[in-house]
Amino acid sequence: MILAGKTTPEYVNLTKAVHNSFRHLELALDKRHLNNIEITKENIQTAIDELKKTNKTFEIISIHTPHINKDETEYLKKTQDLAKEYNAYTIFHSTNLTIEDTIELAKTMGQDRLLIENKTTMDLKSIVHNILPYHDMVLDIAHLYRASQNIYNDLEILISTYKNKIRLIHMNDSTKQKDGLPIGDGDIDYPTIINILKKTAYTEPMIIETPPSTQPESRQKIMKYMPI
Ligand SMILES: [Zn+2]
Repeated sequence: MILAGKTTPEYVNLTKAVHNSFRHLELALDKRHLNNIEITKENIQTAIDELKKTNKTFEIISIHTPHINKDETEYLKKTQDLAKEYNAYTIFHSTNLTIEDTIELAKTMGQDRLLIENKTTMDLKSIVHNILPYHDMVLDIAHLYRASQNIYNDLEILISTYKNKIRLIHMNDSTKQKDGLPIGDGDIDYPTIINILKKTAYTEPMIIETPPSTQPESRQKIMKYMPI
């Protein structure tokens, strides 16, 4: 079972994540990372080279698009091109777009290793109707918690029915108002979440999507519930 970290692709942040024992990473991009794509690639390569000296390495599992507006589609192809270089998933998610606009814009991207993320307003029914007929997805546990009447029930149905389409899971804690919290700081019963993932034999990577400084402790908590 892969438990990955998440960071922006600056050299110092990449190496910090690896020194925090993450061997798999999701990269979060801002527009500036794509406006200066050569510098971004240089940063990644420098991190790879430096870490190699201490026999460490990392794999990029997924690259998250910037939160674009409708008229900024050039960033989608740029993210996807970058993801292709590392054989990583592209995650298309923008808090500035509706799910309808997201699916419409995603048509221009092709299906290849493209994942759509569930938004904070999407319950089980909405995910099943608006994402899964069109694309594979990354399931954000906290977003589901905010939208769902019964996350544990909905998660079990989602994983057991659509396991082959849910390629990644984002793990963070949440209240009904605020997600992105370290594991244990919100209202989600993570031992129950992990039990459901065990019960449904979910084996795809999980990304700890909490503030970087809190990711090692959040990982510890998850590992306690699910030894890996
Ligand atoms: Zn997420």
